[in-house]
Amino acid sequence: MIAYIAIGSNLGDRIANVKKAVLRAADEVKATLVLLSSFYETEPWGMKEQGAFVNAVMGVETELTPAALLAHLKSVEAGMGRQETERWGPRTIDLDIIFYGDLVVGEDGLTIPHPSAHERAFVMVPLAEIAPEFKHPVLGRTVSEIAGSLDKTGVRKMEP
Ligand code: ADP
Ligand code: MG
Repeated sequence: MIAYIAIGSNLGDRIANVKKAVLRAADEVKATLVLLSSFYETEPWGMKEQGAFVNAVMGVETELTPAALLAHLKSVEAGMGRQETERWGPRTIDLDIIFYGDLVVGEDGLTIPHPSAHERAFVMVPLAEIAPEFKHPVLGRTVSEIAGSLDKTGVRKMEP
C-alpha cells in the first residue's frame, strides 16, 4: 500500500530535521521510501507569529496498518524531541498521514484522508509533484486539481 506523508518543521535546523524524519520514517523495515517531493519554505498557518516552515511530502510503501503507521510516525516525532503540544504551534517535526491508498479511516485519533490537507497548499503543492493524478478518495478530485485551486501565496520551492 502506498501512503503519503506530509513532513513539516519550523524549529532548529529545519532542513536537517525534515531529512532526518524522512530517513527515520522510511526505515526500510516499517516503510520503504518510493517518492519524495522538493522541499518548500512556507508561511505558518493558524498561529501566525512563529517562524516559517520547511515542508515536503513523501510516498512510502508499507505493510503497516494505518494505526500502526501513525504509531510509527509518532515515535519518530518523539525520538526527534518533539515536545510542543500547542496545536498549530512551532514544532521540531510534524508527520501527518495524508492518504493511505484509497482507504477512508475515521477513528479516534486518526482521520484519513487528513481532514484539512485539501485546504493546505503546503501539503497539496508538494504532493502534486509526486502524485498529481492521485484521486482524493472522498472528494474525488485529483491532487493536481486540488493544488491548482488553492492560494499558493507563501509557498516557495527551495533550491536543491
Ligand atoms: P497537527 O498535525 O494537526 O498540527 P498534531 O501533530 O499535534 O497536530 O496531531 C494531533 C493528533 O492528530 C495526533 O496525535 C494524531 O492522533 C491525530 N491525527 C488524526 N489524524 C491524523 C493523520 N491523518 N495523521 C497524523 N495525525 C493524525
Ligand atoms: Mg501532526
